[in-house]
This record gives sequence, structure tokens and C-alpha cells, in this order.
Amino acid sequence: MRATFLCALVLSASLAFAQSRTSKTLDIYVVDVEGGNAVLFVAPSGESVLVDTGNGGDGAVRDAGRIMAAAKNAGVTQIDHLIITHYHNDHIGGLPELASRIPIKEFIDHGANTQPSPVIDPVLARYAEIYAKAKHTIAKPGDKVAVSGLDWRIVSAAGDVIKAPLSGAGAPNPYCSDFKAADVPRTEDDQSVGSYVTFGKFRTAILGDLTLNRQFDLMCPRNRLGTVDLDLMARHGNPNLELLLYPLRPRAVIMNDGTRKGAPPESMKVLFSAPSTPDIWQMHFSLLSGQEYTVPGVFIANLYDEPLAAMPVAPVAAPPPGPQVPPPPQHNGMAYYFKVSAQQDGTFTVTNTRNAFSKTYKPEGKND
Ligand SMILES: [Zn+2]
Repeated sequence: MRATFLCALVLSASLAFAQSRTSKTLDIYVVDVEGGNAVLFVAPSGESVLVDTGNGGDGAVRDAGRIMAAAKNAGVTQIDHLIITHYHNDHIGGLPELASRIPIKEFIDHGANTQPSPVIDPVLARYAEIYAKAKHTIAKPGDKVAVSGLDWRIVSAAGDVIKAPLSGAGAPNPYCSDFKAADVPRTEDDQSVGSYVTFGKFRTAILGDLTLNRQFDLMCPRNRLGTVDLDLMARHGNPNLELLLYPLRPRAVIMNDGTRKGAPPESMKVLFSAPSTPDIWQMHFSLLSGQEYTVPGVFIANLYDEPLAAMPVAPVAAPPPGPQVPPPPQHNGMAYYFKVSAQQDGTFTVTNTRNAFSKTYKPEGKND
């Protein structure tokens, strides 16, 4: 972080510089890591939090490069806090490559890995070597991550969720009654470190790949989170439960989907029916949504495998079902991120860096 006293100076000077916003916003960069996750938060003080590091393997150099491009735009020269939501390759795989490019001061995770595999074990061995030289914190629900100017709460970790509602939350959740818990074994997704972040009146949530069963634990019978302005949607735009999305009442949703991952029709139907009618910003045009269930092209940061000049109007064939079979073509070309700038009063602007389309959301209750 930049020195803390700078923050105090900025605040004391805020009246004089009310029009100059650059040092007064919380900036959030949602980076394209091809259906993985990497989201960079930069507080007005310059203190930074990165949530996940993108893919490993063939994608590591590409994804670390894209995260570094966002860091450069933000003027960030170190990561003050890195939250690893869980130990899947699309969330932690890129860590060794990224750590070779930028200093990382604190590593926050959920503790022991629950899904050993030949792919992830070597990454986690490298991870342990890297965090041994820095600060390592195991997050528990209810913990606070100390970030100057932000209130950063951990709301889920290691398969557990907060037991008490956040301040101002705790209303009965009317969407709980229809839920039937899926009888499936727990995976690393269930372990996701979820965060609820407040900056003045602006609120957002980022829950990693928190499963539907754990979403129920978190939101039922009472909504322990309250509402958000922006939902950094869990699970790459795969279905999130109405009992999570609807009471959160987001005015905008950003999903980190891929061309063949996330945003299937059943997920989009839930989003399009959300009572708060959020705008939906998609990292990629998803072949799974196709033309029928996609959003207008201006809200999409990256199109197919190679950028197209315009969205197709002819129907597109969805890829075969199954875990990415056949494997998607590598996309290593130019990629675009979403940048969110949030102000203390709750106003926030989302910008699509592909086309410079941006939209400003006024504080809650002040919409036209
Ligand atoms: Zn994932």
C-alpha cells in the first residue's frame, strides 16, 4: 500500500478536490482469464487486494500477463493481499507465474486442500514455498481483512459460513422454501473464501465458486449478507440460486464466464427474472447462452476465440455438453477487462474496455 497518511491527506482534502475523482474511488478490475477468476481491487489509498490468479498450465503466462496489465493501469506495483478462494486450477493455477512478476505481501486462503490431484498438487507445493516467505493467513467466516478505506468481511471459508448477519442484514429470506439440497460430495468449490466488501455506501460480494448448498447455508433462513450494488457473480455465471441473487438486489452483475463455460440458459433465465433487474455484464460471449439468452453485445467484454467486429445475428450452435469436450481453442490474443469505479456515496461506473461502453449507476434510491 501507499503510506496510510496519504489516505488521511486525501480525505482531508476531499472538499477542495471534490471534482477530482481518481484518488477517491475504489477501482475493481475484472480480468479475462478465460473462464477462470482474477479480480483486482484497488482502494483509494492504493492498497490492493487480488482475488484469485487465473489459470495454470498453458494459460499461466497469458493470465499473469493480463493481471499485470490491469495492475499497470491501476498503478499497483505490489499485491498487498491475495485471496485464493479455493484450490482449483482456474483460480490458483496462475499463482507461481504471477508471483514471479509482482511482490505479494499476504496470502489468504481457506486452509488445507480437500481435493488433491496430480494437476493441483505441484501448484500447491509451489504455493507453500512462496507464502512461507510472506504473511499467510487462514480465513474464517466473520474475519475482517484490514484494507485501508474498505470494510472487507470474509463470509464463507472452508465449507463454513457466517452465523450472524452482517450489520443491517438478517431479514427473513422469502426464496428459501423451494430449495432442495443436492446430495453431492463436497468439493473445493464448497470451500470457497467468500467476501463482502463495503466502501462507503457501495457494496459488492465475491464468493468464488460457492456451491448451491453453501449458498443456501449462507442465505437461509435469514439473509445474512443484506444487499449489494454490484454482484461479482459466483461460479463463472453458472446457475446461482434465486435465494442468493434475488435478495441481494444487485443493480449490476459481472460474470467471469468463458466462451464455453458459464451463462447457460437456465442461469440466464434466473438473472433475467431478478426483481432488481440488474444489468448483466459478461466476460465472454458464451456459446452456451447462444443468441437467444445472451445479453446485448455492448455488455460483453470478449467475444469468440478471436475478436469479431460485430455480434453474429445468425443462430450459433452450442458446443456439445460435457466438461469442455472437445477442448476449446486456446485464446491467447488481445483480451479486455471490466473496470468498475465506485464512489463513497454508492455511485459506481462499469466500463467495458473492449468498446469503451460504460454505464453509471446512481446511489440506491436515487435512480431516475
Ligand atoms: Zn472456477
